[in-house]
Amino acid sequence: MALLMAEQDSEVNPFEAMMSRFDVAAQKLNLDDGLYQFLRYPRREVTIYIPVFMDTGRLQVFTGYRVQHNISRGPSKGGIRFAPDVTLDEVKALAAWMTWKCAVVNIPFGGAKGGVICDPSRMSTGELERLTRRYTAELYEFLGPEKDVPAPDVNTNEQIMAWVMDTYSMHAHQTVTGVITGKPVELGGSAGRREATGRGLAIAIKEACAKFSLAPSDSMVAIQGFGNVGSVTAQLLHNEGFKVVAVSDIRGGIYNPDGLDIPRVVEYHRRNRTLDGFPDTDRITNRELLELPCHILVPAAVENQITSLNASLIKARIIAEGANGPTTAKADLILEDKRIFVIPDILANAGGVTVSYFEWVQDRQGYFWKESKVNERLADYMTDSFAQVVRYSETHNVNMRIAAYMLAIDRVARGTRIRGIYA
Ligand code: NAD
Repeated sequence: MALLMAEQDSEVNPFEAMMSRFDVAAQKLNLDDGLYQFLRYPRREVTIYIPVFMDTGRLQVFTGYRVQHNISRGPSKGGIRFAPDVTLDEVKALAAWMTWKCAVVNIPFGGAKGGVICDPSRMSTGELERLTRRYTAELYEFLGPEKDVPAPDVNTNEQIMAWVMDTYSMHAHQTVTGVITGKPVELGGSAGRREATGRGLAIAIKEACAKFSLAPSDSMVAIQGFGNVGSVTAQLLHNEGFKVVAVSDIRGGIYNPDGLDIPRVVEYHRRNRTLDGFPDTDRITNRELLELPCHILVPAAVENQITSLNASLIKARIIAEGANGPTTAKADLILEDKRIFVIPDILANAGGVTVSYFEWVQDRQGYFWKESKVNERLADYMTDSFAQVVRYSETHNVNMRIAAYMLAIDRVARGTRIRGIYA
């Protein structure tokens, strides 16, 4: 029993999940041992202790992290999350994931991630602002448009990005919009950033459908997670004529095999903050949603949803990973046996970081693009990257996830070899 639990723990450990894919891809690439060691470890892990005066007047100290995994191809890039269960191991895994994600879509960034152990749902706006400002001030020397550029992640938003930008700018004695992305458009944010991840995901899904000659009108889609990524993907696919048959949020989902009227579902969810009670649908659990008969399954909620326990029950032909890490490495093997085509997270949800790159470019140029230009350039990046991963997968006879890792590791390794390692 204890052994079984330990096995399950290791199956869902984010660092092990990332490393097991990295190891397979590195082996297939015949990566030499020195480079393997170099890429395996982050460049820098910073732990900080953040004193915050709470509204009661009491001083509380929070623990925060920033991990920079790699800067071979450019400044490091990656979000900041605020959550009670943040661990250094998780932040390290997510930082490495960002290195591979930026390399898959070939944008000139390395990878980083930040986190603070806190429960934002129990903190006031003032407490969150003081926490964010002190976090930024402590990390001042490590951040910057040419060094490390954070962005939003779990429980952080445009307002928090604005506080980071302002705090950094006050220390720099000048306004530095390019230090962070995911900012409000009034402060140098990009048009189209909010929808970018869902838009990129919808583009990747359309490319996969074209590959398998699946017409949108014949394609049933089930989407887990109805937040930023899930709801935008649902709307865009619905607009393109796909039949979205099920969607869910943390409390469960709704299902209608004839297709849901997504604009009405979005409006209903916005008004009621729940999917419960939406007419002409069956209530389903999140687990049932994953096992529905459909062509395309989109896990767009949280990690570790498709594991060795349920992978064999999945009926979809295509899985498009909107979430980060929704599938475990053990589940990958089962899905491969079932010949399910997986568009891996580091490719499928890279639209967000791609438009973050556009935001950084626009901030540095001081010249802002129309949303149509942002979307057109995003589509270019997503279709090119999708085609390159498919080609890699066919040439090396590996699944899409390993192909994406190989392509990414190869790009980072090349950059590193050309620069040389200053050791
Ligand atoms: P969000 O907070 O806007 O939405 C999350 C959705 O998932 C909500 O509907 C929530 O109710 C649901 N959910 C939460 N826990 C759940 C659970 N245990 N089971 C089922 N549903 C659950 O978040 P988001 O920005 O849409 O991000 C979703 C995923 O996509 C995350 O894994 C995130 O890391 C990843 N991602 C987001 C972006 C982005 O730009 N927002 C970019 C890349 C990757």
